[in-house]
Amino acid sequence: MFSPRCLAGFAVVVRLLCGVALARQVGMAAGAEATGIPASHDESSAPLHALRGIERLHRAIDEAAARVMPKVIANRRDFHQHPELSNQEVRTAKIVADELRRLGLDVRTGVAHTGVVGLLRGGKPGGVVALRADLDALPVTEEGDLPFKSTTRTHHNGQEVGVMHACGHDAHTAMLLGAAEVLVAMKAELPGTVVFLFQPAEEGMPDDEIAGAELMIKEGALDHPKVDAIFGLHVFPFEAGEIRFRPGGIMAGDNDFKIRVRGQQTHGAMPWDGVDPIVVASQIVLGFQTIISRQIKLTTAPAILTIGSIQGGTRYNIIPNEVVMEGTIRTFDPEMRKQIHKKVNLTATSIALAAGTTADVTIGKDGPITFNDPSLTSRMTESLRRVSAGRCDANTPPVTTSEDFAFYQQHVPGLFFFLGVTPKGADPSTVAPNHSPKFFVDESALVTGVRAMASLAVDYLAGADDKLHSGSK
Ligand SMILES: [Zn+2]
Ligand SMILES: [Zn+2]
Repeated sequence: MFSPRCLAGFAVVVRLLCGVALARQVGMAAGAEATGIPASHDESSAPLHALRGIERLHRAIDEAAARVMPKVIANRRDFHQHPELSNQEVRTAKIVADELRRLGLDVRTGVAHTGVVGLLRGGKPGGVVALRADLDALPVTEEGDLPFKSTTRTHHNGQEVGVMHACGHDAHTAMLLGAAEVLVAMKAELPGTVVFLFQPAEEGMPDDEIAGAELMIKEGALDHPKVDAIFGLHVFPFEAGEIRFRPGGIMAGDNDFKIRVRGQQTHGAMPWDGVDPIVVASQIVLGFQTIISRQIKLTTAPAILTIGSIQGGTRYNIIPNEVVMEGTIRTFDPEMRKQIHKKVNLTATSIALAAGTTADVTIGKDGPITFNDPSLTSRMTESLRRVSAGRCDANTPPVTTSEDFAFYQQHVPGLFFFLGVTPKGADPSTVAPNHSPKFFVDESALVTGVRAMASLAVDYLAGADDKLHSGSK
């Protein structure tokens, strides 16, 4: 997820700032006192044993989160150094399953191929809440000079590439393991059940193979026991430790598409003897540029149409037989989505026709919009304000990237939020975005993620939101 931006000039600044952040992180991992927890959030300065009710649970969360952070950071670095592509997360899943078993959870492995589901039954009766993290990395060759940089290489789509946690799922997995340990520490007081979903293949599989969240649901991830609400997060380039979310659509619905342009192979010196699919493909790419900019009513909702891959030809002097292009469409409005599909088809086939050939357009199935249940979102807002010490935007604009967390939200009310991971002082608009080979996570943000996930579970189960809203402050 996350579209590329102008990267000009970011390298030097980010290198400098990341160096500072990394030095801080190394200190934390070495067990330094820095917990990263802002002091101002605390309901009381009284010791844990003197607190009651939800304040006591919050304090227990915060103290346990501070304790588990060195392990969270060590895990995150280990996952970062050993990234695995979608549905190949065997090593990562084993570490997750071993850790959950060590914590005493009921663990189910091999869910949706490599997924892991952990079950924590609290000591008191109550509802069921699910917390989700994603396990997979991307075919991106890491740049930069982190000491735990990935050097993993693999073959993907016929090319040799590096593998990198360029979307931050290493941080998601480590934070959720940390939250599990925090919640286990307060198991006796936990009023209900927490289901931990460690999901593979969030980045999707080719050819619309059912995978990731969709397959987890199909294999009963939300059913045994029946989940009442679900929470998830994503790291994002804005100031470390800040939290952003909104009610309703927060991330776009997506469609992948593939266009096969037929040509007629001939000598590069005698194009008139064949049909050149490279020229036709080029015209289609340019034709697409006017679909969003000229033909769609952009005041209704934003939309994006991107070609991300063009494959054709083997040699400089042969006009090839075909070109295959792949791309993605992002929308927030179902009607607009239909319109764009129609225009993609019409534009590609008409341009091919004009050149005396054909283009086959295949548009993949609709990926749903990541939609935050408005009443759940308002109910949990106070929890996210507390863990971020008020550094929280509850009405952030929607983003055009997609998340398969949306599938869970089609079945149960869910809240998906963003966690900032840009080092303090860096300009988020110029740092490397997710999916970039220089994507960087400031680990000082991770404690906020651990506390957020644990607090959402506890506050939801305890119905603590009501108490928070009617509290004395
Ligand atoms: Zn991604
Ligand atoms: Zn992601």
